[in-house]
Amino acid sequence: MPYWKPEIETMDPKDLRQMQSEKLVKLVKYVYDRSPFYKKRFDEFGVKPEDIKSIDDIGKLPFTKKQDLRDTYPNGMFCVKNTDVVRYHASSGTTGKPTVVGYTQNDLDAWAESLARGMTAAGLTQDDIIQVSYGYGLFTGGLGVHYGSEKLGATTLPTSSGNTERQITLMKDLDVTAICCTPSYFSYLIEAAEQMGCSIKNDTKLRVGIFGAEPWSESLRKRIEERSGIKAYDVFGTSELSGPLFIECEMQEGMHIWSDMFLFEILDPETNEPVPDGEVGELVVTTLVKEALPLIRYRVGDLASLDTSVCKCGRTHPRLMRLKGRSDDMVIVRGINVFPGQVEYVLVKFPEVSPHFMIILDRDGEMDSMKVQVELTDMVSDKLDDYYKLKSRIEHELKSILNLYAEVEFVAPGTIPRSEGKAKRVTDNRTF
Ligand SMILES: [Zn+2]
Repeated sequence: MPYWKPEIETMDPKDLRQMQSEKLVKLVKYVYDRSPFYKKRFDEFGVKPEDIKSIDDIGKLPFTKKQDLRDTYPNGMFCVKNTDVVRYHASSGTTGKPTVVGYTQNDLDAWAESLARGMTAAGLTQDDIIQVSYGYGLFTGGLGVHYGSEKLGATTLPTSSGNTERQITLMKDLDVTAICCTPSYFSYLIEAAEQMGCSIKNDTKLRVGIFGAEPWSESLRKRIEERSGIKAYDVFGTSELSGPLFIECEMQEGMHIWSDMFLFEILDPETNEPVPDGEVGELVVTTLVKEALPLIRYRVGDLASLDTSVCKCGRTHPRLMRLKGRSDDMVIVRGINVFPGQVEYVLVKFPEVSPHFMIILDRDGEMDSMKVQVELTDMVSDKLDDYYKLKSRIEHELKSILNLYAEVEFVAPGTIPRSEGKAKRVTDNRTF
């Protein structure tokens, strides 16, 4: 089993914990001394750096949130001078100003190191040719994975997003072996390639996909692997933590998070107490080595679970299990929490429909209505009776997962808008 940094990746969990404690004690003093934001937050919370002696004291520290980054726009939480920042990224703000993140050279190196470890764990080496189809620019996906791929020593093909025909032509002609993009874009690439008379499975050398930036299900993984003949791995990260950071190993049983760089907590959102190992809760992350924008107990907004047992691959660092969805992707319909991932989970079970769908929410008087538009594939028969049966089978399955009725509407293939980045899954027409 190849490792990028075996002495760290297979370190005794006790030694890792000790290392985390030492880094946390230093970090708390670092942010308190350097950032007026953190000094004020700690003082208000009644905690001093000397109160933190090990990671057992993590619960004494206050939380931070995305709202703090917005309130201190553009760089009020930074811990270094502007001249020490070597790069900025920014995420689009749905409400007003974007969120700005900054990196020192050490921050960029640690980010690339995290990805090089993860890419190695996913079976990639310097002999691979990696197509980066995440967008390049202020979004962290493209440049983040690009530097990870270069650190690994692989050949990098920076196609960025868009221009799908050219993506497929270059993939084929340059013998690309791995691709990084959103799972919905890759599903679209498979279809688009077929329309060009190219089968990704038979006509390309592609063998690995690293897919993230949106939640996706185990069943979509199976479907992608079957249709394209590759192994599909999940990757996780958010711009506030650097960007894409953690990738699954070849066991495909969760993404290894690197404990020498990050401290993960999974908390009960009501009580803020840790949940038992393996249970779902809110993901809270402390960055242990970031210099420009360290985050203390940052509430990421994702629901997730952690497996802290030693992995079959030999790595001792915990695994983040497939995310259950972002709390901000969730919509509330008739008082029930609905995640687009749940709808996807149902749809991929039906070969008669494609994984492209759109949830449309409307309000009729006081009552919410939910419709799921989904594209038919050529697997469906042209008998009207079969068509109605299929509709009712999908509606039944949706009801059992969502606990509410959603009408299924079939549309022609290619009707649902394809996204080159994160797929838009919900159209909310309700007025409140
Ligand atoms: Zn593993």
